[in-house]
Amino acid sequence: MNYLNKKTIEDIDVNGKKVLVRCDFNVPLADGVITDDKRIRESIPTIQYLVDHGAAVILCSHLGRPKDEESKKKCTLAPVAKRLSELMGREVKFTTDVIGDEAHAMAAALKPGEIMMIENVRFYKEETKNDPDFAKALASLADIYVNDAFGTAHRAHASTAGVADYLPAVCGYLIQKEIKVMGGALENPKRPFVAILGGAKVSDKIGVITNLIDKVDTLIIGGAMAYTFNAARGIKIGDSKFEADKVDLAKEILAKAQAKGIKFLLPVDNVAADAFDVNANTKVFEGDIDDGWMGLDIGPKTQALFADAVKDAGTVIWNGPMGVFEMAPFAKGTIAVAKAIADSKAISIIGGGDSAAAVEQLGFADKMTHISTGGGASLEFLEGLELPGIACLQDKDEK
Ligand code: AMP
Repeated sequence: MNYLNKKTIEDIDVNGKKVLVRCDFNVPLADGVITDDKRIRESIPTIQYLVDHGAAVILCSHLGRPKDEESKKKCTLAPVAKRLSELMGREVKFTTDVIGDEAHAMAAALKPGEIMMIENVRFYKEETKNDPDFAKALASLADIYVNDAFGTAHRAHASTAGVADYLPAVCGYLIQKEIKVMGGALENPKRPFVAILGGAKVSDKIGVITNLIDKVDTLIIGGAMAYTFNAARGIKIGDSKFEADKVDLAKEILAKAQAKGIKFLLPVDNVAADAFDVNANTKVFEGDIDDGWMGLDIGPKTQALFADAVKDAGTVIWNGPMGVFEMAPFAKGTIAVAKAIADSKAISIIGGGDSAAAVEQLGFADKMTHISTGGGASLEFLEGLELPGIACLQDKDEK
């Protein structure tokens, strides 16, 4: 999927126009208080560009999974509007309405340079069903649609894709960066191109492995999924987590990698424990793991092996932890990989989710070229799947 040709906010005249912007304001809340405003801060460059260029900006997003009236109270975007207003130092009008008269009246009265936010689009079940009437009603608030919510770009919902049937549609800076960096790496990577995949299951990452095996020079596998591959190679894995029904698939992937002549690195040693517990006894096994022990992290030799493969890489893509990084005794492999990527000169791309969180917690975020803002969406991007929230946007040569 090539999205490098998608129009951005800079490719369309927004002056004097009402612009509906789909943001990802799905922020964590505790008792109505925002505990991390990163997503709000990240949305500002796009909003700022639009107001600076004479647009009247109408913001929309989902927040949480509102199901009934009670849960709707916890999923209001009101605190987000307030926080955005504080961060931007300007008024952000808020309506508890989504597509009704109040939202329309506020949008109609909105002047160039002003900002408003409508309530959580998921207050309507039509949103996730991508109902055309709901999408049309949303679209009727504005003249132009901007999608800047990468985290939901893999969903075909009304506010993420449906509205583009009724309005000229372009992307904001967040999606533009995801396309440029991730799309650029997949299309024309600086070599050697190294992919590091970890996490729990081969089955979750099989699409990514299949897509990347045709593109990379080196594929590195860590985490529990490595044990399915080691089992396929006839190495004993003791009581490690693995997927018995994916061993044949792992054999096929190993054969394919060999036929293609790419480097395929798997753990050569593992930190194993006698229980899935932070206080378990631990032991490093080289090669075979004895019964009664489960591998919960890559060992020191593997850390060095993986770090060495990353050292001279031109591009590195990383998705998924190398072990049970939530428990300190089994976090060292994930930390070592994060550090190796941070220390390399490679174009470094960190898939969302666990690896993005790890990189941020460890303080390596500013050393990475790109940390994706979407977990599921970045995985689907790397799988080469169509992302409806991006596919719906205009191409640069489209009038
Ligand atoms: P994923 O969501 O597929 O990226 O998987 C992340 C999860 O995989 C984390 O919660 C890790 O604790 C878990 N994980 C990684 N390595 C192992 C392992 N060796 N054994 C059990 N769980 C693991």
